[in-house]
Amino acid sequence: MKDLLLGCHLSTSNGYAAMAADAVSIGATTFAFFTRNPRGGNARELDAQDLEGFFATLDGHGIGPLVAHAPYTYNLCSSKPETVEFARRAMREDLERMERMPGHLYNFHPGAHVKQGVDEGIRLICEGLNEVLVPGQRTTVLLETMAGKGTEVGRSFEELARIIEGVEHDELLGVCLDTCHVADAGYDIVRDLDGVLDEFDRVIGLARLRALHLNDSKNPLGSHKDRHERIGEGTLGLETFRAVVTNARLAGLPMVLETPQDGLEGWAREIALLRTLATREDAS
Ligand code: FE
Ligand code: FE
Ligand code: ZN
Repeated sequence: MKDLLLGCHLSTSNGYAAMAADAVSIGATTFAFFTRNPRGGNARELDAQDLEGFFATLDGHGIGPLVAHAPYTYNLCSSKPETVEFARRAMREDLERMERMPGHLYNFHPGAHVKQGVDEGIRLICEGLNEVLVPGQRTTVLLETMAGKGTEVGRSFEELARIIEGVEHDELLGVCLDTCHVADAGYDIVRDLDGVLDEFDRVIGLARLRALHLNDSKNPLGSHKDRHERIGEGTLGLETFRAVVTNARLAGLPMVLETPQDGLEGWAREIALLRTLATREDAS
């Protein structure tokens, strides 16, 4: 079978070459990283020599595509114009920087409408994306499926489909499905993963699904909480993840862990566990 593209969220704090070396050390074949400080501050200049080492390691080990993550502070549909303006400018800068590493994915949280209502939220997100996306860019931008905490937009496949419909260059858009978030949003991937994928296909189209975040959940179906748990230790359970890593419709997609771990060893163990789940199904 096709080798699984598995990894976790890694830190850029020691540079990009060191981050790629970290990926190799834990057996990752993809990974995520923040495009800048997660609190959303200034982005560091990319260093050409550091990037050379980064590319050499990715090529040498067949790692990628990668799934960069925008900082959580970006909110394209805030009620504060300066917050919206910051998110647009920062996303544009992030995507310009990602042109130095073409062909990867850039994932972001659609936003929180803060009492403006979901219609106004979607309108602002579309307006922002229409300003940020540039035809010909070589990075695909992914909307993340959200848990529906507070006023988060993107809590249903319908909301994501409405955003995609409102964007002119929708060929640059895809979706990243977060297992914790969709379950918290009320999609029962525990009992019926294939039914949820059918629903995704009907509402958004499976061709849009470009990456997954693999997280167990601390809370029950439909709780709208968004608290990640380690794989197999939450309400989703090991069998759900076995179903995910063996599902033919998800084959070949980058799958990124965002589970609470203290260090790289924890993710190395989870990556190994998921590979075991995938092969056992093969053998049976
Ligand atoms: Fe996320
Ligand atoms: Fe996520
Ligand atoms: Zn989350």
